Amino acid sequence: MFVQIGRDRNGLTNKLKAMLPEINRRQIYREHNCDSIYEYAGKFGGLSCAVVESVLKLEKKLEAMPELFGLVETEGSAKVALIANLATPENAPQLADKVKNMSKRAVTEMAKEMRGRKNGEESIRATISEKSPCQASQKITLHLDEEMQFLFLKLKQKLKISSNKRTMKKILQKMIKQEFPKISEDFPGKKSAKIPSVSEKSTRIPTAAKKATPAQKSRTGETSESSKNAVYAAPKIATRHISAQEKRQSLQAHNYRCGYPGCNKPHSDFHHVQPFSRTFSHENIVPLCKEHHEFMHNGLVTEKWNFTLDGKIGFEDAIYREKRRG
Ligand SMILES: [Zn+2]
Ligand SMILES: [Zn+2]
Repeated sequence: MFVQIGRDRNGLTNKLKAMLPEINRRQIYREHNCDSIYEYAGKFGGLSCAVVESVLKLEKKLEAMPELFGLVETEGSAKVALIANLATPENAPQLADKVKNMSKRAVTEMAKEMRGRKNGEESIRATISEKSPCQASQKITLHLDEEMQFLFLKLKQKLKISSNKRTMKKILQKMIKQEFPKISEDFPGKKSAKIPSVSEKSTRIPTAAKKATPAQKSRTGETSESSKNAVYAAPKIATRHISAQEKRQSLQAHNYRCGYPGCNKPHSDFHHVQPFSRTFSHENIVPLCKEHHEFMHNGLVTEKWNFTLDGKIGFEDAIYREKRRG
């Protein structure tokens, strides 16, 4: 109760803050017998002078990038301020995407990374064109069990499409539109049917599994999928559950720390470098701290573990983002 009301209040405060520059420009405070925006904001909004000043300063810094200042309303001024000094009209769209989709702590880490690499701009540029691991196009062979075959053929018949591939594409498109409308907005790159039903099946199931087992600690779902549903996965490795031995091996390989280059924090999640839904393998898991796990799913890391702002957001990343925001 208290927490909820606190959240509501923060949301309202953010809305007030976002309105300040406009009120100041149009001198609306005069209409309310106030001599300044500070007096007005204190009297009617309960905002201190320091807060008003910081918001107005922030807006000035982001003058040429209104899409970033606009995020004050939903994400709060403190989170937006983290990247204010690093923002340029060129990187503003990417930064807006990160601020929207990452936690405040992960944005803090990202800002640190960007400050550290400002001088090494060249080396970042060199890696920008690399495909992120999630985007690599792969051929996926899928073994359908009897039930899946039946369902697939039924849908194919319904859709009146002769080719299996085009049928699958249609199913996935419909699926995304209906089940994950938010993702389809985030995810303009559904160019081809390169994410066939494997990922659809195994990403869809975790959502249900997560609801069924809310006590499981992982917020990514990656380390906690219920093996009960594994019957739908490909026959090779039937479960998303990562065994204690696999975890231990991965931890040993990374000295029981986060596997992100230069990070010394203890691990919190296990991340699949290649999405499990494509490999059905846990061989490529890496222990990561929460913040760097967010990096991985927000297009901030290249295949060669370099920092980039331009990584693509794959299907699995979109799911991760959705889950994190809850
Ligand atoms: Zn991950
Ligand atoms: Zn880390």
